[in-house]
Amino acid sequence: MKFSTQIIHNPYKVDPYTGACSTPIYQASTYHQFDVDQPGPYDYARSGNPTRHALEETIALLEGGCRGFAFSSGMAAISTVFLLLSSGDHVVISEDVYGGTHRIVTQVLSRLGISATFVDTTDINAVEEAIKPNTKAIYVETPSNPLLKVTDLGKIEEIAKQSKLLFIVDNTFLTPYYQRPIQFGADIVIHSATKFIAGHSDVIAGLVVAKNEELAEKIGFLQNSFGAILGVQDSWLVLRGLKTLKVRLDSATNGAKIIANWLKEQSYVKEVYYTGLPTHQGHDIQNKQVTGHGAVLSFDVGNASMAKKIMKRVKIPAVAVSLGSVESILSYPALMSHAAMPEEERRKRGIHDGLLRLSVGLEDPHDLIEDLEQAMLPRLVSSRALYE
Ligand SMILES: *Cc1c(COP(=O)(O)O)cnc(C)c1O
Repeated sequence: MKFSTQIIHNPYKVDPYTGACSTPIYQASTYHQFDVDQPGPYDYARSGNPTRHALEETIALLEGGCRGFAFSSGMAAISTVFLLLSSGDHVVISEDVYGGTHRIVTQVLSRLGISATFVDTTDINAVEEAIKPNTKAIYVETPSNPLLKVTDLGKIEEIAKQSKLLFIVDNTFLTPYYQRPIQFGADIVIHSATKFIAGHSDVIAGLVVAKNEELAEKIGFLQNSFGAILGVQDSWLVLRGLKTLKVRLDSATNGAKIIANWLKEQSYVKEVYYTGLPTHQGHDIQNKQVTGHGAVLSFDVGNASMAKKIMKRVKIPAVAVSLGSVESILSYPALMSHAAMPEEERRKRGIHDGLLRLSVGLEDPHDLIEDLEQAMLPRLVSSRALYE
């Protein structure tokens, strides 16, 4: 089955007891055992719940993995996966990972004796050089945030295989509709389902997919032990969002393409970062490993005052952190996602004061362009103001 069919017609499309065409919300914490000698499939809802289970199996199916796991946030998913490591272990990790991932690695795992080397994973030699005798995992986020740098998944797999490392990919930006890292050798795929998968700015959630049963056993054990599971109402919201993932991404990606091409022609815009543009450094690799370039782009308007002027004047996008929703979201990495990064480090990585990130939503792209245009141009004195 093709993705668009699979996303709707999966084994969980109807409730086996009632035929309901939406997985019921099983609001239960414990389950009666009809026969204590032959316990049922569920005993306590931290360990399992049918609504959560439907979501977990669906994401596993879509990613082409063995089993899925739902967590109370993307960070809960990421943190639980890191619990596969032990004191004394080392991990090689993309230098521009999500800020929360950087924080848990540098400020929490470091206290537990798990060390990390942050490298530019688009540079395969740098990844190879970072591997130490105690390295146990490579953790990659591609495309990266906010410059959308592309890591070659196939090349990372070769290194991971050679050194017997766990290969973990944060697939939040592209989702299984556009990128399926397990096909490229990833062992574990992680999502902040808060973003495109749920897609409506109304829930915080995380998902993990394990490639094989051995890893699934370990992650299932950790999910139950650590206990940061996704609640049943939120599981239902993510399941519902997931059903429209393809049509939302088709529409938003089309909008992103149109807006990126328009931005490229604007004199105020110094640089546009979108992997769908042939000028982007990751365009060719991306064409080999993804089926779409996604709905997130960044652009540099030269300086902080111009960036702030645009954020104050835009009328359509939400000016906010986060991405992947029905509404467009404009964010300012220097003061939002990357505020904690020292200024010098931030600039060194190309995250300049004039950089804005736009997660394109489902609005008409031409309305968004008109809005950005009025926000960028010097303010005209309206004729009405003259007469007032
Ligand atoms: C938002 C995000 C996370 C964290 O997810 P939460 O649901 O906010 O905990 C992790 N990785 C990426 C790429 C993200 O965008």
